[in-house]
Order: sequence, then structure tokens, then C-alpha cells
Amino acid sequence: MQVPFLDLKIQYQSIKNEINPAIQNILDNTSFILGKVVFDFENTFAKAHNVKHCFGVSSGTDGNHLASWALGIGAGDEIIVPANTFVATAWGATLTGAKPVFADCDSISYNIDPNKLGDAVTSKTKAVVAVHLYGQPADIESISKITKDKNLSLIEDCAQAHLAEYKNKKVGGLSDIACFSFYPGKNLGAYGEAGAVTTNNDELANKVKMYRDHGALQKYHHESLGHNYRMDGIQGAVLGVKMKYIEKWTDGRRIVAAKYKELLCDLGDIILPTEMSYAKHVYHLYVIQVRNGGAEKRDSLTKFLNKNGIATGLHYPIPLHLQKCFSDLKYKKGDFPVSEKLAESGLSLPMYPELSDNQIEYVAEKIKEFFNK
Ligand SMILES: *Cc1c(COP(=O)(O)O)cnc(C)c1O
Repeated sequence: MQVPFLDLKIQYQSIKNEINPAIQNILDNTSFILGKVVFDFENTFAKAHNVKHCFGVSSGTDGNHLASWALGIGAGDEIIVPANTFVATAWGATLTGAKPVFADCDSISYNIDPNKLGDAVTSKTKAVVAVHLYGQPADIESISKITKDKNLSLIEDCAQAHLAEYKNKKVGGLSDIACFSFYPGKNLGAYGEAGAVTTNNDELANKVKMYRDHGALQKYHHESLGHNYRMDGIQGAVLGVKMKYIEKWTDGRRIVAAKYKELLCDLGDIILPTEMSYAKHVYHLYVIQVRNGGAEKRDSLTKFLNKNGIATGLHYPIPLHLQKCFSDLKYKKGDFPVSEKLAESGLSLPMYPELSDNQIEYVAEKIKEFFNK
């Protein structure tokens, strides 16, 4: 049996009859950039996340940049970022000229550890980025307590967490400003690069709207510096169609996660993801950890699964503080032990809503076989 890590073809086939005419409509109207279809999507997406403003942008990375840019962060400032995340979270700081300062994650939720946040705050800190990693919301209330106390802004990186909930509230409106990615493999994926920025703050919304479109709210009237971070019409059309199904697909991911849990919870050799009591996890990724034996054991499990037709992933093999691109920040191995351990022992299993019971059972069976159980 073959179990791909992700299969975007099944999903496309299931909605092809709606996607193709939606793209054709963009071609017929030559509405290639922003336009009504993108604005309609923005409204639908904002409603789904219970947030006042949503702006379609050119990628999640550009959304990360816009969030810190709109907050007025720049050279000489610092932004606290979890050590265990995709690198783009940190580009939000570097693209404004600010410095990312890393903080370790919590060993159960895998999200930034509120108890360790305080240590990372300096007189230059301007913001904290709470990444809802793998689809599980970070502990927003505990983090907010610290950001409020220290007068810092809070940014949510929701790139992996469309429709995820913290205490029954959707992510994306739980902070000053939030960004989403619609990279094709994300829970809501475009057919190219795309992202969004959401906020309940009118002033920040106005800035995002200007900055994404050359600093102009009216064509050729450039009130501020800006960039070209606009969403394509075709991406808006694809995402608009997909919004009808995102809840169903999210349920599908949760069903896959429940099935993995049912089949693997008795296997003491691995640690399964924990859905925190405050969270509705949307399982962008299903990351297990090998309990003993570190990277060596994890790598031999990987080889065994791959050899048996099961594709796997690593999220992420090198924590940000040990990446070459941040070597000038002078972090060293041992600085963030929880993130380092996760990088060594974590393994992402296939996860997408269309995974069949047979495939899930096969993955579980092979993992057990590896551990001779
Ligand atoms: C995917 C991702 C991004 C970047 O999004 P792109 O659309 O690929 O630019 C940022 N942060 C996190 C946590 C991500 O997973």
C-alpha cells in the first residue's frame, strides 16, 4: 500500500466542477489582481474567523511581514518568536529590520511556553508572535497576560491553524493582528502563493490595506511607503470555492487524528500529539515523537515507514536558533532544549482529510511492527 504524506489531487478532483468555472470566470473578466472575487473571499474568511477585517495578500510570509510592519516595528526593535516553527515566522521580524528573539516551546502543546516568555523580554521588545503550530492554538490567555503587562503587541501566526479555536473562539482575532498562509499544502490551500492578514483594529487594518498596495488607498496617491503584496484573482476564486468545504475538511482531519490516537495510544514507544483542554486542534500536521533513542531511532522508524510505502515529514529538523541564517544572533545548542528534543525525535505522519481508514490502519500497523508490538 502507498500512503502519501499529502494528496492534493483527491481534493481537486472532488471540487473540480466548481473550481474550473471559478478560474474561467477570472480569465473571462481578466480580474487578475484583487477584485470582487478576492473581496468576497476576504469577507467570507473574516466571518468564518469572527474577525472584523481580512486582507488577501500574496503569501503567508508577506502576511507575517505586514503584521509587524503595520505595528510600526522596525530597526532596533525585537520580536519574540518560538524556536520551533517554520522560518517565515521570523521573517516577520527581519523584513522590518527588527531582530527575532527566540523562546522555547512547551513540551506538551509544542507552542511557545508562556513561562519562558518573560526571560526573552528586553527593553527593545515590541511584540510576541504566538504561532498556532501544527494546528493547535497557543495558550493565548497566558501569553496575553504577559504582553499586556509588558505593553507588547501580540501577533498570531495562523498559517497552520485555519478555523482552530481557543476556548471556543476562532484564531485570527485573538491578538492585535494575525496572518494566515494559503500555501497549497495548508489546511486551506490556494493553487499558488497566497495568504491573509486579519485584525479587529481599524487603524492596523488601514495600514495593511495601504502597505499591500504601494502605500495607496486611491490609485497613484501614495500616502506611505508600501509594497506589492496583493492577492491574485485566481487564488481568491479557488479559495472562495474551498471555503464551502473547509469545515468538512477540518472535521476530516480531526477524524484522522482520532483514528491514529485510537490505534496508537497504547504504544508506549511513541508520544502522540495532545489536544490541550482549551484548544480545538485542526491538525495541519500530526507530529509524533519517538520516546527513546533520539534522532537515530526516529530516523530508522522513518526509513522503515518509507520503505513500506508510507511518506513522512520532519517539522522541523533544525530549530530556528540553530539555523545558519541566524548564526549572528549567537545562540547555541542547549539554549532551547524542548525545541531541540522535538527536532530530534519528532516525526510527521501522513495527514489530510481524505486519508482512508485502511491507510491509517496500515500506518499504525507498520509503526507497531517497527517496535515489535
Ligand atoms: C507556511 C507558513 C508560513 C508562511 O506561509 P507561506 O504562504 O508559505 O509564505 C508562515 N508561518 C508558518 C508557521 C507556516 O507554516
